[in-house]
Amino acid sequence: MEVKYSLSIESVTKRYRDFLAVDNVSLKIRSGIIFGFLGPNGAGKTTTIKMTGGLLKPSSGDISICGHSITKEPVLAKSDLGFVPDRPYLYEKLTGIEYLRFIGGIYNLSETEITRRSEELLSLFEIYGFKDELIENYSHGMKQRLVICGALIHRPRLFVIDEPLVGLDPKGARLLKRVFLELARKSDTTVFMSTHTLQVVEELCDELAIIHHGRIIYSGDINGMKRLLGNADANLEELFLQLTGGDEQVPLDNII
Ligand code: ATP
Repeated sequence: MEVKYSLSIESVTKRYRDFLAVDNVSLKIRSGIIFGFLGPNGAGKTTTIKMTGGLLKPSSGDISICGHSITKEPVLAKSDLGFVPDRPYLYEKLTGIEYLRFIGGIYNLSETEITRRSEELLSLFEIYGFKDELIENYSHGMKQRLVICGALIHRPRLFVIDEPLVGLDPKGARLLKRVFLELARKSDTTVFMSTHTLQVVEELCDELAIIHHGRIIYSGDINGMKRLLGNADANLEELFLQLTGGDEQVPLDNII
């Protein structure tokens, strides 16, 4: 049977002037899985994610979403993509429902579909009662919930989210984790998330990749990582630190 890839990153490089932020990254991510994209601060996660969403152009290589190149067929590629960047831009002078109507319109959804999807998503994320409030009056977590509603309104086949749990309270975080599982298991949607919360990766992700200094240093599942490092009993934090060289203890004397 032919394997279907929702996201295909092919030999992608990104330079900022003479600094190589992403160095020849290739990843193929199957439909219907939850994929964790990990790496230390400054490793190249957000740069890769911005290229996946078409917000940044690769210096070389290409990225395809459900078979469509984000650079050559951006409209087709984006029609299958739900995208939540690390710092989403929201039109603060719109109300929540106006924002979702605007987003739904961009995806060419019918009026009826926009109304139905907005109501069900706003209710699911428990912000329905605020739908007629201006976004500028929303709390940080409410804005994050609204952006997620907007990114799911058109039932994307690939859902890309940069640091999903930042700003969400424990109840919101638990709901989002359930949503990820439902998307992957029931709707065959791929969830691609970058996160520093390794416990969430252990809990949810079928596969993961680690980027370090712009290069992929591991791609596969957690068990494969344990085998690679010969450490069957380690948790993901220990494995991550072992691979990225962050497990040495710096002395704190006289500083703290
Ligand atoms: P974090 O976990 O801290 O969010 P990250 O893995 O998302 O990090 P990126 O934001 O992708 O890292 O940054 C990768 C590297 O590229 C960093 O060294 C960063 O300083 C650099 N960088 C990012 N954006 C720019 C830019 N616009 N101009 C120059 N350098 C940049």
